[in-house]
Amino acid sequence: MPRANGFEASETERTARIMELRQLFRPVLASVRDDKGTEWVCSNCGGVLVPGYALCSGCRTLRSQARGLGLTLSDSVFPLSYALPDHQLFTDIYEYKRHNHPSLEAQQRLRALVWSFFYYHRDCLEADGRGPATAVATVPSGNPHKEGTHPLKGIEDILPDDIVRLDVVRTQLAAQRSLDIESLAFADVDISRRVMDKHAIVLDDTWASGAKAQSVAALLLRAGAAHVSIVTCARYVNGEFNFGEFAAAYGDPEWSVSHCPIDRRSHR
Ligand SMILES: [Zn+2]
Ligand SMILES: [Zn+2]
Repeated sequence: MPRANGFEASETERTARIMELRQLFRPVLASVRDDKGTEWVCSNCGGVLVPGYALCSGCRTLRSQARGLGLTLSDSVFPLSYALPDHQLFTDIYEYKRHNHPSLEAQQRLRALVWSFFYYHRDCLEADGRGPATAVATVPSGNPHKEGTHPLKGIEDILPDDIVRLDVVRTQLAAQRSLDIESLAFADVDISRRVMDKHAIVLDDTWASGAKAQSVAALLLRAGAAHVSIVTCARYVNGEFNFGEFAAAYGDPEWSVSHCPIDRRSHR
């Protein structure tokens, strides 16, 4: 039996799933300008800008923390969709991992989102000198005492089999909203052979401050990875100081598989 991970799905099944996806997600765009020409999108994470800056306040904070700690961050942050208030993804990212009652429908939608990315845009992920993606790590829970396998592992499962799964674990409670690689460790033996000079992916469900995903990226880069790409299902956007202006300029663009999460423009 082939693994039921979507890569073997028939054309008809894929088309049906993609039509469903269109209604559920919203594209992260390279640029969102209002009628005064003000740019609203963070060039790194897709978050909402304070006008006049190229990076959002979250990304600027992480960069200054990284400088202080002597860490290198990933510049390749690829959110697959916005999670905007009153869109399905906004609730899915909580419900797919709800304690005791995880939503299987939410898990399926997130799996389909990640599947469509690797199916249609893997070449884009590996272009621009990043090279073949050979390893993936998921971002562990901030709490090392959470029992069981993180539901994100069920989403990682849909990645192509040739990408080696790395095991990054949490050894102590993570710091809130700040870079923290002291609470992380590799469970893999021989980690340097697996990441040295390679292009590794960090897979996460949501980017809010970005601190947890960038901490894992910094750990992989310190271990010798040549390049780290952060792929996150959702760029969580809500309650920012300028959210209303961003939302008005953003409008209601439709998500589709031809919208590229790498350059945030449409192709093919
Ligand atoms: Zn940002
Ligand atoms: Zn693409």
